[in-house]
Amino acid sequence: MKKSLKKNMEKKKRIALVAHDNKKQDLIEWAKFNRDSLANHEVFATGTTGKLLEKELNFTIHKMQSGPLGGDQQLGAKISEGKIDLLIFFWDPLEPQPHDPDVKALLRIAVVWNIPIACNRASADFIFSSHLMKEEYPRIVPDYNDYRERKI
Ligand code: PGA
Repeated sequence: MKKSLKKNMEKKKRIALVAHDNKKQDLIEWAKFNRDSLANHEVFATGTTGKLLEKELNFTIHKMQSGPLGGDQQLGAKISEGKIDLLIFFWDPLEPQPHDPDVKALLRIAVVWNIPIACNRASADFIFSSHLMKEEYPRIVPDYNDYRERKI
């Protein structure tokens, strides 16, 4: 049987927040509603999203580059390094984005590492109201050793 690896998510989660321009208002409203809960965690964001949220929420957010300038990729790298626990990404389904490959890559890498993802407010509400937000959580990390050791 394949052994499953587990990585503990602490009570204090490292949360990445990203919103495309047409979705920024949505994310700001959601974040303001959840401000006190968010303040108990460590928040990361792409540049513009982070700047707007910091102004509204009044606590420090770790800001990456703006998304189209590499911010999505920076968050993706953090996920693959085990430095992000949760991704809230309000992407815009109605407008093409110049950095579409980066958007896809960020969503993909979150799935690769079994990171919870919310892409709209309802999903974000469900994740945030989970009792797991206040507890440690042994996240199953898929065992990719067979892939790493594959014969080429
Ligand atoms: P932004 O980037 O927060 O810098 O606008 C968001 C995105 O990934 O498009």
